[in-house]
Amino acid sequence: MNGKGKPLIRVKNLRKEYPAGEDTVIALKDISFEIMPGEICCIFGTSGSGKSTLLNQLAGLESPTSGEVLIGNIPISKLSENDLAVFRQKYLGFIFQSYNLMQTMTALENTALPLVFKGIDKKTREQSAKSILEIVGLSNRLNHYPNQMSGGQQQRVGIARAFITKPKIVFADEPTGNLDTKTTIEVMEMIKNFAEKYNQTIILVTHEPELAEYATRVITLADGEIISDTRKEQVHKYEQ
Ligand code: ADP
Ligand code: MG
Repeated sequence: MNGKGKPLIRVKNLRKEYPAGEDTVIALKDISFEIMPGEICCIFGTSGSGKSTLLNQLAGLESPTSGEVLIGNIPISKLSENDLAVFRQKYLGFIFQSYNLMQTMTALENTALPLVFKGIDKKTREQSAKSILEIVGLSNRLNHYPNQMSGGQQQRVGIARAFITKPKIVFADEPTGNLDTKTTIEVMEMIKNFAEKYNQTIILVTHEPELAEYATRVITLADGEIISDTRKEQVHKYEQ
């Protein structure tokens, strides 16, 4: 069915415990699964089910209590802080619920920021940022600051910033949580179109059933465990 070779992400017996006073919260209970390249994978579940904990683990933002996460063949839970930071810049993009734009930077500067860390010269950075902002429909907002833009516009900058480096994997934690229905659809279409164009893998965390519609795979969590894992039958353009 998949025909796309090896898994991109492998999660093995992943466990995350948090201390809570005298008690311990087990946010992830020894879960295992694999994600294939090009999947738009929705991590779905109610509040407190462990979605953000899992995303933080997949992106190497927190260390596990036990078990491991491999991206490609790299056990990210074993990388040093420095190596992890380099790895993230090279291969990962992030979209946040509250956009997380730099308030003192324009749309253009925010979008170009990930390229600064890649050592790309200013002119090329600005050209790339301009062309991706055009794709997300913001060519008339290049010099606007975040507080001069609507939530939907800010999130489109967030999307442009996440995709400008063409990362292998883009993580999005409740990316439309602060947006209305119409803007939610626009934002999700954009994420999906970028992912399909560059064969990127998306990890989308949400509690909204409507967002799961955009996914090719839905992993549902409850109390730190996987209670269902479904793939939509994909009809590949080239296979018919
Ligand atoms: P979701 O994103 O699905 O709403 P989370 O992954 O944020 O859920 O949380 C899962 C569980 O772990 C919750 O019970 C939450 O209270 C707990 N938890 C998450 N982060 C921490 C933390 N830093 N310290 C203690 N408990 C945490
Ligand atoms: Mg969460």
